[in-house]
Amino acid sequence: MISYCWIIPARAARKFEETEVTKIDFADDRVKIEIECANSEQSKIEARYLLDCSGRQTLLGSRLKVKKTYDHLQKFSVFAHYENIDRLPGKDATLIRMVRGLDRWFWMIPLTETRTSIGVVMDTKAFRGAKLSPEVALEKFIADQPLMAERMKDAVRVSPVYSATDYSYRNLQLTGDRWLMVGDAAGFIDPVFSSGVFLALMSAERAADILNEVLQDERKRQHLFNKYSRAVNRVMDTYLTFVNAWYERSREFLEVFLNPTETMQIAAAVNAVLAGNEGRSLAIKWRMWLFYFFVFAQRFVALSPRLSLVPKTADMAS
Ligand SMILES: Cc1cc2nc3c(=O)[nH]c(=O)nc-3n(C[C@H](O)[C@H](O)[C@H](O)COP(=O)(O)OP(=O)(O)OC[C@H]3O[C@@H](n4cnc5c(N)ncnc54)[C@H](O)[C@@H]3O)c2cc1C
Repeated sequence: MISYCWIIPARAARKFEETEVTKIDFADDRVKIEIECANSEQSKIEARYLLDCSGRQTLLGSRLKVKKTYDHLQKFSVFAHYENIDRLPGKDATLIRMVRGLDRWFWMIPLTETRTSIGVVMDTKAFRGAKLSPEVALEKFIADQPLMAERMKDAVRVSPVYSATDYSYRNLQLTGDRWLMVGDAAGFIDPVFSSGVFLALMSAERAADILNEVLQDERKRQHLFNKYSRAVNRVMDTYLTFVNAWYERSREFLEVFLNPTETMQIAAAVNAVLAGNEGRSLAIKWRMWLFYFFVFAQRFVALSPRLSLVPKTADMAS
C-alpha cells in the first residue's frame, strides 16, 4: 500500500511517505499514533488532534464501527487507461463523456492529450451474475455498447484493469473529541457526478480552518466540530439526492437533465450545485425543488423529449 501521513506539530509540518498508520490511541488531551515506514522502521507520534484522511480505508470509521454502506448503491466498477480513443475535435477533446445504458454507465475521462480513463459502473449483483474476470468484463461491456465500441475501435489499453465494489458509504459520526474525518475517510457517494475530489478538498479546507481556530481556543471545539459535520453531511446529502435520481428515476432524470432550458434559471442552479454550491440560499433551493418536481412529473407527462437508453445499433438506425 502506498500511504502517507502529515504530522503537524506547533511550528512546522513533517511529511512521511510510504508510511502506514498502524495504531491510533486517544487520551483526554492527545492522540497517539504508531507508524511504520517502508523500511519497517516504527515510531510513535503524539498530537493534539487527528485528521483522518485515509480514504476508502476509513481508518477511524472502521475502528469505531460507524461506517454505513448504502444498500441501494451496491455498485461494481471496472476501469483502465487507454491510448488512441477517438475524441471530439478542438477543446471539446478535453470534455468528460458519459455514456448511459439501461443498466450501466460508462465514463471517458481525458487524462492527458492521448491517455483516457475508461470505466463502467453497474449493479454488483449484475456483474457477479456475468461471471467474468474484470479484464474480460471490461472488453465485453465496451464491445456491447455501440458508442463506446465506435470511439474505442483503435484503442490500446495501457494500464492494468482495476475494479472497485460497493464503494458508497458514509460514517455516522464525522468528528470526535480529538479527531475529524476528511474526504473519503468521511464518506463517498458514487463516482457518477465526480464529487469525490471536490468533497475531499472542500472538507480538507474546512477541517484545516476549523482546527486552526480550535487550536487557539479549545472552548469553541464542540460548536465548530458540529458545524463541520453539518456542512460535510449537507454536501454529501446533495450529491446523494442526485445519485439516487440518476439510478432510481434514471430515464426521467436524464430526459430533464439533458434538456436544460433557460426557464427560471433552473439549469444554472443545477450546475451550481453540481459544481459545489451548497445550495443553502433560497434562490437555489426553490430552483432545485422545481428541478426535482420536473423529474417527477416527467414520468407522467413528457415535459422534455423522451429518450431511449437502449443503444442504437446500425440495424436500428437504418
Ligand atoms: C470507481 C471510482 C471512480 C471515481 N471517479 C472519480 C472522478 O471521476 N472524479 C472524482 O472527483 N472522484 C472520483 N472518485 C473518487 C475519488 O477518487 C476520491 O473521492 C478521492 O480520491 C478522495 O480523496 P482522499 O484524499 O479522501 O482519499 P484517497 O485519495 O484515497 O487518499 C487516501 C490516502 O490515505 C492513505 N492511507 C490509507 N490508509 C492509511 C494508513 N493506515 N496509513 C497511512 N496512510 C493511509 C492511502 O494510501 C491514500 O494515499 C472515484 C472513486 C471510485 C471508487
